[in-house]
Amino acid sequence: MKFDFIIVGAGIVGLATALKIQEKNPKKKILIIEKERKVAAHQTGNNSGVIHSGIYYKPGSLKAKNCVYGYKLLLDFCDQHNVKYDLCGKVIVAVDQSEVNYLDVLIERGTANGLMNLRKITKEEINEIEPHVNGIAGIFVPQTGIIDYKEVSEKYVELILSNGGILNLNEEVINFNEKEKLVEVITNKSVYTADAVITCAGLHSDKVAKKSHPNLDLKIIPFRGEYYKIKDERKYLVKNLVYPVPDPAFPFLGVHFTRMIDGGVEAGPNAVLAFKREGYKKSDIDLKEIVEIFTWPGFQIVAKKYWKTGFGEFYRSFSKKAFVKALQRLIPEIQEDDLIPGGSGVRAQACDKTGGLLDDFSIIKNKRIVHVCNAPSPAATSSLAIGEHITSEVLEYFS
Ligand SMILES: Cc1cc2nc3c(=O)[nH]c(=O)nc-3n(C[C@H](O)[C@H](O)[C@H](O)COP(=O)(O)OP(=O)(O)OC[C@H]3O[C@@H](n4cnc5c(N)ncnc54)[C@H](O)[C@@H]3O)c2cc1C
Repeated sequence: MKFDFIIVGAGIVGLATALKIQEKNPKKKILIIEKERKVAAHQTGNNSGVIHSGIYYKPGSLKAKNCVYGYKLLLDFCDQHNVKYDLCGKVIVAVDQSEVNYLDVLIERGTANGLMNLRKITKEEINEIEPHVNGIAGIFVPQTGIIDYKEVSEKYVELILSNGGILNLNEEVINFNEKEKLVEVITNKSVYTADAVITCAGLHSDKVAKKSHPNLDLKIIPFRGEYYKIKDERKYLVKNLVYPVPDPAFPFLGVHFTRMIDGGVEAGPNAVLAFKREGYKKSDIDLKEIVEIFTWPGFQIVAKKYWKTGFGEFYRSFSKKAFVKALQRLIPEIQEDDLIPGGSGVRAQACDKTGGLLDDFSIIKNKRIVHVCNAPSPAATSSLAIGEHITSEVLEYFS
């Protein structure tokens, strides 16, 4: 029952952290505790499966650094362990003049982040790559790829277990008791002790952090991303990945088309406020969580500022016609009949008290507990870099 490290959460960030600690310190005894019956059950297993290049992120930010470095680590890992991926590239498409200038900003950012061979492309060049796409200009990003992050997570687990780590599924961490020289981790089944604890609890990261950090100044706001699948006979409309020019005011990229590694093509995800942290369906509602969200001062500021966009997302969520209209900006030929409902994922978006939607990943440290409180997209791409970052901070902090 005594471990060197306990990690809470077996999403891709918790697992990558365990793997990186083992790499640095093979002798450390590690326990991972996950409340679900399988790993990657939440954000990691319900995402778009894109290997992001790093083009969008502010140069110098942790997000940019971790994405570019994590990209390299991820590809090396997949090559070494035979995990399938495909660097198919993507197009970012401007459909009107107001979006064209932002293409230059993205190329500048991408180049500053070290991406080579980004190309601004004309309407004709867009159609050579994606014949059915409507756009007046675009960017071709050759580095972007597709992958199955569940498969990546399962490979991480295989290695962690073979290195002597322990994974307890179906067990929920409910509290911590932080002492001078150790931490007690109290679960619904048992009590464990560890020299240090790292929590990577995704949609519950604020709640888990609050157990040892009662004055935590941020709240996770869940945003559901809903997908449609394109019927097999119309998949030819999308060759690879087609993205709109993102709205820089928002942390999400806008509905897009993604060829998945399993051969399907998905359209989405939107970004609708979810009424439950793990609310994958529109009917999933938790009154207590709704009250917590709506009474959070930061959320009230965000809601006041972006209510129009928020209502637009709700409308598109309930009206397939409206969803299709957003998709038709990119591919005019796409019709309601071409789409069947797909799955959904819920993003954990941290919001501070002043209405700031945290863009970067954030770590909060106690004496012996480190909480990863915000690990938004592209944290799946960046997982090994984030794991390495947390490992070096944690080992330094506790040494
Ligand atoms: C719709 C969507 C699309 C996305 N697309 C992409 C993409 O294409 N590319 C990309 O790089 N990123 C993408 N992302 C982002 C990426 O998926 C996440 O950033 C990443 O998966 C976060 O991993 P995590 O381990 O922090 O969280 P999670 O995967 O959510 O894992 C957290 C784990 O902690 C567990 N847990 C919580 N509380 C407790 C507790 N008390 N006790 C025990 N266990 C607990 C949960 O059950 C869960 O398994 C997307 C996300 C979403 C939602």
